[in-house]
Amino acid sequence: MNALRPTLVNWDELDALKYRPEQSAIASVLSRLSFDQTARNSIQADACDLVRAARHSASRRGLVENFLQEFSLGTKEGLALMCLAEALLRTPDQPTRDRLIAEAVGGGDWASHLGSSSSFLVNASTWGLMLTGRLVARDDSPGGDITGLLRKMVARLGAPMIRAGIAQAMRIMGEQFVLGATIKDALERARRENYLCSFDMLGEGARSAQDAARYEAAYVEALNAIAAAATDKAGPETGHGISVKLSALSPRYEALQEARVMEELYPRLLRLARLAADADINMTLDAEEADRLVISLRLLERLARETTLPNWNGLGLAVQAYQRRAPEVIDRVINLARITNRRLMVRLVKGAYWDSEIKRAQVQGRTDYPVYTTKPATDVSYLACAQTLIAGHPHVYCQFATHNAHTLSAVQHMASKAGVAVEFQRLHGMGEALYAAAREAFGDICLRAYAPVGAHKDLLPYLVRRLLENGANTSFVNLLLDEATPAEEVVGDPIAMLQTAGAGPHPRLPLPLGLYGDRANSIGPDLSIRVERERLQAAVNNFTPPSGLGPVVVSPQRKDLILGHVAETEASDIDVAFAQARAAQPGWDAVGGAERAKLLEAMGEILEEHREELIALCVLEAGKTYADGIAEVREAADFCRYYAGLARARFAQPKILRGPVGERNSLSLHGRGVFVCISPWNFPLAIFTGQVVAALAAGNAVIAKPAEQTPLIAQKAVQLFKAAGLAADLLTFAPGEGRTVGEMLIRHPGCDGVAFTGGTETAWRINRILAERNGPIIPFIAETGGLNGMFIDTSAQREQVIDDVILSAFGSAGQRCSALRLLFVPDEIADDMIEGLKGAMDALVVGDPADPATDVGPVIDGEARAVLEAHLERLERQAKVLHRLPAPVEGSFFGPVLAEIPSADFLEKEVFGPILHLVRYEPSDLEHVASGLARKGYALTLGIHSRIDGFSETVRRIVPAGNVYVNRSIIGAVVGVQPFGGEGLSGTGPKAGGPNALTRYAVERALSVNTAAQGGDPELMNL
Ligand SMILES: Cc1cc2nc3c(=O)[nH]c(=O)nc-3n(C[C@H](O)[C@H](O)[C@H](O)COP(=O)(O)OP(=O)(O)OC[C@H]3O[C@@H](n4cnc5c(N)ncnc54)[C@H](O)[C@@H]3O)c2cc1C
Repeated sequence: MNALRPTLVNWDELDALKYRPEQSAIASVLSRLSFDQTARNSIQADACDLVRAARHSASRRGLVENFLQEFSLGTKEGLALMCLAEALLRTPDQPTRDRLIAEAVGGGDWASHLGSSSSFLVNASTWGLMLTGRLVARDDSPGGDITGLLRKMVARLGAPMIRAGIAQAMRIMGEQFVLGATIKDALERARRENYLCSFDMLGEGARSAQDAARYEAAYVEALNAIAAAATDKAGPETGHGISVKLSALSPRYEALQEARVMEELYPRLLRLARLAADADINMTLDAEEADRLVISLRLLERLARETTLPNWNGLGLAVQAYQRRAPEVIDRVINLARITNRRLMVRLVKGAYWDSEIKRAQVQGRTDYPVYTTKPATDVSYLACAQTLIAGHPHVYCQFATHNAHTLSAVQHMASKAGVAVEFQRLHGMGEALYAAAREAFGDICLRAYAPVGAHKDLLPYLVRRLLENGANTSFVNLLLDEATPAEEVVGDPIAMLQTAGAGPHPRLPLPLGLYGDRANSIGPDLSIRVERERLQAAVNNFTPPSGLGPVVVSPQRKDLILGHVAETEASDIDVAFAQARAAQPGWDAVGGAERAKLLEAMGEILEEHREELIALCVLEAGKTYADGIAEVREAADFCRYYAGLARARFAQPKILRGPVGERNSLSLHGRGVFVCISPWNFPLAIFTGQVVAALAAGNAVIAKPAEQTPLIAQKAVQLFKAAGLAADLLTFAPGEGRTVGEMLIRHPGCDGVAFTGGTETAWRINRILAERNGPIIPFIAETGGLNGMFIDTSAQREQVIDDVILSAFGSAGQRCSALRLLFVPDEIADDMIEGLKGAMDALVVGDPADPATDVGPVIDGEARAVLEAHLERLERQAKVLHRLPAPVEGSFFGPVLAEIPSADFLEKEVFGPILHLVRYEPSDLEHVASGLARKGYALTLGIHSRIDGFSETVRRIVPAGNVYVNRSIIGAVVGVQPFGGEGLSGTGPKAGGPNALTRYAVERALSVNTAAQGGDPELMNL
């Protein structure tokens, strides 16, 4: 089958509903439900009985329930335990493990949890985590300062003993939570304990083709083992099966990589499906992030249509009810089953990624959330989906995954009313007491456990996910065992709750665009949606070069693609521009910050209205990917709105100062006059606009020189300023070479200040030219380069490091001043990290940025590429090139490089492109190695990946940096959130996008009026 041939079902329609307003989604869900009040009452009564029965059989509680009851995620100790647990097992070396333990022990009030859970396991794991058996014995003394004692014990007994205790406790936890370390063990235990299972192979998503092959092998092994064990040929409903995480089968399971997903991931999936079909066992595709929903459904459709899988009814998928389009997903899946005449198994879940969906929508500036924002809405959506699913029988086999008594009871009610046999599912380690009660109440219900299989070291991320998912105050599992909450409250009717509380959104969760309160967040189109991608591609395809004369502007990816002509600014034009600007500026300053803010806000709106055209220009003229183009427009709009806020707050009214009676003292800020703004090609819209807006907000007129390579984007921005209502004289577009036009501008006597972003050497040159000027000494605001490092230790999470390193080093083809240049890796994990990075590099797409699948576009021009090639030659001669990706020959492409160098001293200056240098270090040598980086004199961005605060503090103390990022990428500073700019060789400050950004664009004027001179101070007289 052709990978991209038309589908039977229009899955893309679901994307139109992805961000539908919550209220309309809820209205639609409620309209599907056909419960009358009697049914609702009886469901709730049954649910109450289940809760009471479950509470009575406390011995059958799972570990998670007990753990959550003792350690809510709201407590410092709960979080410390989770962090410790998450990091400890993957940390290979003893010193780091000891530091992890010491930090966790030192930070909590453990005494308050001592012995308060009746569960042996929670006590064992808690105290095993924190202590050893001996320590527990010491705790018996009443009223002791346990935390203090712990610290002393850690110091005295030394870490090895504590470590052994913890390892033991982890093993106990692992055995409870994982059905078996291998599929054979798991099958044996399932047989012994009479569980029906869907086995899940533990592990993170694939980051490389090697990871994907490894996961495929694990699934194959599991399928073969299940098939071998299924001697009775039970069939998909009554036999074991597997759950497949598609993200484990490809390092690039993303909507943007659809062709590749179909070429690489699909054959893997098909091989697994064939094995499952041959043995007639079930295979369910797990549901992952909302951005992956449509692509997962396309894969499902291909499988459903496979003629090589005849008569197999074991194909299934999970559907998340918390998504606002969930019922429509179910409608279409039932339709697919009908059209393909293949019965599908559908597991309805609520969803495991709620917190990350909320965060992603805020960070990406989505118009709304893809998930509900209140728990009752998710619960009601689940019920509506369940009803639709049951009505879809026999085209679908209905599976309901829940640990919630109300949900269980409602589903049971619907299924028995419809006379449809359904299956319930629970996670291994949870829900045992509830389902035991359900069996008592409803008879022999069909129950399957989702059973993780894997080594202990792979367990913790899974456990943490489950704890997060179920640890929220609203979570049913959290409430179930809390005797203080009456059963009626635990199983409140979600429909009634929705009706009383209103249909959302959650009152404490602003929409993503309302995140910043008084200023709008900028909108980020969602590239996982096909129409959004096509809209941007159309803008690129329909680009028509603007008219103009002068030197040609070409695209870095295609030298023959002429984008326009822009003439150099003449000396006489510059004189005129300064004269006009000087004449216009006092009026602009006089209107005050509030009036100026209105214009800047209008510019923010206009930028967003012209988003597609601007992104197309970023792609064509600057070689940016669509994602980078989106980020450009967003940042430019954010600058407009943020600086508008500063203009209002600081420039609208004089600040009244306290002083003696009889006088009025105030301080006001004013524009300096005419600012020259010189911006770089790597952020041709964002930095160009940011500088201009800062200068304008402070009350200046501006003459702006864009980079030689990207004048068209800047020209467009200037046109938009005018369209927003800015008087032409206040902003002059002055394209041209730095050596000619740039220098004429800064030497001009009319120049009252310079804002510059670019290379350190150019900044030195500008500084010298300004120093030679006679007359007033004018401000020079420079943002320059960096030799940015990232330090990781052995407690860092491997996959997270790989993601963040790849993005920081190779995103935007490494052409960001914030980009990662030096990665410091401890010896112990260096080889493994190198292999991981090489694999992840191989998964990158280097090519034409007009293709949405591209990750790494060209470098800006041939000159930039030549510099990189010269550096690569040096690396080949004097260091060790570990990996290099191929790149297109046409256009100025340079394939990403990973190289190992002995120390930071190898680098003399910033190398601006996709070359990452790796330095191994011995942990005891950390301070020395870090000092080596600090000595380079740059101080822009710094990354740290570690679970140990002490490690982070040491690195931060030694390596100065304007922007430090911990456990995340080091690029993509957001205006107003991460004010951006460096120190030392990296810039003068103030930081762009920060509260002090406008200070150097302004002069301060103090006014003191002796009010007593006019006959006394009325306020004093009237005391
Ligand atoms: C067998 C099995 C398989 C699973 N497979 C998957 C899978 O493939 N993909 C997947 O994503 N999950 C999967 N899960 C996890 C599942 O999503 C959670 O276990 C489930 O959400 C818990 O639901 P509950 O009814 O037990 O708990 P409840 O406590 O009743 O509900 C918890 C749910 O409410 C949501 N929620 C909490 N607060 C809010 C709020 N303010 N607004 C909106 N929603 C909120 C949570 O995100 C969570 O989804 C699976 C679970 C089981 C048992």
